Formats: sequence, C-alpha cells, structure tokens
Amino acid sequence: GARDTTAARRVLLAAPRGYCAGVDRAVVAVEKALEHYGAPVYVRKEIVHNKHVVATLSERGAVFVDETDEVPEGARVVFSAHGVSPAVREAAEARNLDTIDATCPLVTKVHREAVRFARDDFDILLIGHTGHEEVEGTAGEAPEHIQIVNSPDDVDSVTVRDPDKVIWISQTTLSVDETMETVRRLRDKFPTLQDPPSDDICYATQNRQVAVKKLAPECDLVIVVGSANSSNSVRLVEVALEAGARTSYRIDRAAEIDPAWLDGVTTVGVSSGASVPEILVEDVLRYLAERGYGDVQEVRTATEDLMFSLPRELRASLEGSE
Ligand code: SF4
Repeated sequence: GARDTTAARRVLLAAPRGYCAGVDRAVVAVEKALEHYGAPVYVRKEIVHNKHVVATLSERGAVFVDETDEVPEGARVVFSAHGVSPAVREAAEARNLDTIDATCPLVTKVHREAVRFARDDFDILLIGHTGHEEVEGTAGEAPEHIQIVNSPDDVDSVTVRDPDKVIWISQTTLSVDETMETVRRLRDKFPTLQDPPSDDICYATQNRQVAVKKLAPECDLVIVVGSANSSNSVRLVEVALEAGARTSYRIDRAAEIDPAWLDGVTTVGVSSGASVPEILVEDVLRYLAERGYGDVQEVRTATEDLMFSLPRELRASLEGSE
C-alpha cells in the first residue's frame, strides 16, 4: 500500500529569527511619531526593508519618499534604520526639516569607524553591496577614502595608495562566511590589512545565520520570510543552501508559497529576516499545518535580549509632553 509519510512531516523553526533590536526601534519610532505628532510623518526610504511593514505604516499615515527634496520645507522626516550619509543630513538641514534619526546604532558604529580611519588616512575597503542604502550611507562618510568590495571576486581589481595602510569594514547584513572569504583574499593581496576593531556584521545577522545553518542539513526545503531588498533575508537563503538544504526559497508572505515546493518534502525549515514581523511567520506555519506539517520543533542557537532606546529627538519630544 501507499507509504504514510504524514507522521514524519515536520517543521524546524529557526530561533532567533525575525525582528532585531534596530528594526524594532525604527518601526516603533515611526509609530510613536505618528501617535505624537499625527500624520503625515515623512520617512526617507523604506524604514526597514519589508513590504508588509511599509504598507502597514503607510496606511497609518507615514509617507515614504526617496529623497528629502520630496519632503515639504520644515516638515518632519524620519531617517531609516539603514543610515544616511552626511550629504543627506545637510540636504535635510537646508530644507529646515525636523529630523528623527532611526539609524540603527550598530550601523552608526560602522560610520564612526569609517570617519576615524579616514581621518587616519587609511584606504578603507568597505565589503558590501553597491547600491544598498546602508552602503551608500557609510561610503558617504568618507568618499575619498572608501571603496566598495562586493564579493571575493572583486578583490582582484582593488587598488590602493599604500598597501601597508589598508583596513576593511563591512555592511552589517552580509553572509559571515562569504565576508571571511573576501577578507582572506584581501589579506593575500595586502598582508598587513587591518581588521575593524569589532564585528561589523551585526549580532542579529550572525545569529539568524547560525540558526539556519544548524537546521538546514536536515531540511528538504527551507522557507525564509523576507522581502527581496532585505539583504539579511536574501543571505539566509544562500546560507541554507550552502549548509545543505535541498531547496530554499524567500517569500514575502505565505500566499507566495508554491504548493509544488512541498512535493516529497518531509522536513521544512522556516526562518525570517531581521525586518520581518512574526505575524508573517505565523501565517506560514498555519499554511504548512494545513498541509500536514503541524509538528513544529524550534531549533534555537542563541537568545537575544538587546534593546535600543528610541531616537534622541523623539525621546525628548515624548518626555516633554508628559
Ligand atoms: Fe541593526 Fe543588525 Fe538590525 Fe540592521 S540587522 S537594524 S544592523 S541590529
């Protein structure tokens, strides 16, 4: 007779997953600004790279713009979690905008490194993705000193002024393994290459990758919830495949799951990027449960309790009104 595989079907749910401290802070900042000042509240770029979050805040009166010149003179604007370059701050000041800076403190830390090493006249190799908002912001701190290295294969074409005065820094949401490979190749080329004083790839990015790495070898399929422009979400799919998952897909929401992905699948891994609300993961788990994958086992590799206080400008207003 037909083999009954239903009983063996299961979900391995990665932990940590979803919201990090920087995303939580940025989203709450926009929510509080809406409550406190009323709509509209302008936000430069997507506050975090997640479609659902942006759509929900838009409904509540947030107005997302690409650049500060789209914000009316004197209005209030929130800078996204990914950070901004000094040029953007100056443009906002020139328009008299009231800014709330929701840049993640861990991104600000990388900005500070860039400023410091530029002052010391290093050639700074910024490992990251050209065009990503965070990379534009960081590179904008010291455009004369920074060059972007996208991948290990980019290393061949890197040239510097003094090979003995080179340091690398990175985007916060990269693949740890690929970044280490880029650094290895850079060090082959520049043996005295200096490391940044501490990890630039943030704790949340690292923790989500470690959890996915742990469950992936047991999975026929790994589903990562996250938007296409979310760097850390896209990395999770790559990490899953490299760690041995048979297949892996990124989706924005449960409705994007193709039922054919489940053909012959016993174990499904599930995780979500740092900008993804848990409700979207719950929808995926419900979808899977309806198809026989009701046995959910959490695979936890770390616990997180980091929290950041709200942006200073916002805290000052909120306290002033009490
Ligand atoms: Fe900050 Fe990391 Fe979250 Fe980005 S992913 S907002 S750097 S904690």
